[in-house]
Amino acid sequence: MAVTETAPSAATTAHEGILRRQSMRESAARTYARSLPIVPVRARGLTIEGADGRRYLDCLSGAGTLALGHNHPVVLEAIRKVIDSGAPLHVPDLATPVKDAFTTELFETLPRGFADQARVQFCGPTGTDAVEAALTLVRTATGRSGILTFTGADHGGAPDARVTRLPYPQDYRCPFGVGGARGLELAGNWTESLLDDPRSGVAPPAGMILEPVQGEGGVIPGPDSWMRRMRKITADRSIPLIADEVQTGVGRTGAFWAVEHSGIVPDVMVMSKAIGGSLPLAVIVYRSDLDCGEPGAHGGTFRGNQLAMAAGAATLAHVRENRLAERAADLGARMIGRLRGLAADHPAIGDVRGRGLMIGVELVCPEAAEAAETAIAADDRETGAVGPSAADPVLAAAVQRECLARGLIVELGGRHASVVRLLPPLTLTDEQAEAVLDRLADALSAAERAIHGRHETCHPH
Ligand code: PMP
Repeated sequence: MAVTETAPSAATTAHEGILRRQSMRESAARTYARSLPIVPVRARGLTIEGADGRRYLDCLSGAGTLALGHNHPVVLEAIRKVIDSGAPLHVPDLATPVKDAFTTELFETLPRGFADQARVQFCGPTGTDAVEAALTLVRTATGRSGILTFTGADHGGAPDARVTRLPYPQDYRCPFGVGGARGLELAGNWTESLLDDPRSGVAPPAGMILEPVQGEGGVIPGPDSWMRRMRKITADRSIPLIADEVQTGVGRTGAFWAVEHSGIVPDVMVMSKAIGGSLPLAVIVYRSDLDCGEPGAHGGTFRGNQLAMAAGAATLAHVRENRLAERAADLGARMIGRLRGLAADHPAIGDVRGRGLMIGVELVCPEAAEAAETAIAADDRETGAVGPSAADPVLAAAVQRECLARGLIVELGGRHASVVRLLPPLTLTDEQAEAVLDRLADALSAAERAIHGRHETCHPH
């Protein structure tokens, strides 16, 4: 990790110059670059090397795009093969052998009961564009316009005005203040009453869109029973159900597609990120009887990136053949277990949650917990109910910085940017997982020390 004694000045100067020019020339809208001031020049697997020679374990994985880590040999080989063949690199919408092979491999991975009657639509190469295509599809098919979505949801792009938000269930910060099975029941009841009450103010919708595990919302898995209830509620009322698998797909959560955990079959699946094997690609897959759009109903110039399709097909095949979803389930469960163990020594860890290798650690201000406890109503005290502590984005940002100083890249997310997120590649070894968690634990201790006595910071008056 250390910079060699002979090279530092040239390398460090180049690295600093690039960062300085970036901050002078690029938009204020840049995001990751602000909290991760590194200049990647080489990468392999879990490791990124910066222009200053420093090496990092990368648990951001290109915002979840790198199921196999950086520059996996099967991905590089697939890309080289297309380049060496002289095939066109881009042909909007046209049939090609590369696209044919990608589609065949994609259909191979689809949940049972879906593949036999599915159609695929190639979209512009972002998750946001594929979500828009999915909404256009269900609006056209139903002739309705409203969409049901959930609190904390992130489907990319700007919020759509024709959206009604429903409560996404969560234990730790349950919107009904009860959590557990009761919280799920209430979330379901609310959804049902909104649809069935003629005076709810919500017109019959064109569709419901949900993330099986909320990613940007703070790594919140939608429980299987709740997923099944949403499927039943929508099916009973002929409302198409759209599963946004942009972040959860390709083995990430411990099943190839996250809807498989609950066994539900959605009407539409939205896919992007990892399906392109690190290159930009997005599709929707849907029940063929929804296919009533006119040609060009959802266009876009870049719907034919051959390198992405080749890299994606290689990635899908590698994940499937090597059972990397099972590996993610097993290793993810062990990592979550170790993080929960860590919580015993760190009161600032409010919650550890996730599914497979989509893991979140919510940081809180423990002092605020004590304050909340003393303020809790007498009734609640009798039932033992204690509200969660206040989220601590200041500590989370400090943990992210301390991680970086220890050669570990993590993302922050969640409602209050207080959830440390881990999205490592599915190829992560046991030893690498240990190294990641050692660095994270060490960073947490350092961050806690650094802002010790920060009582005022985490819940200012
Ligand atoms: N859906 C989900 C679940 C996502 O996590 C994201 C991106 N974080 C998107 C859609 C949007 O994808 P993109 O950034 O590629 O437009």
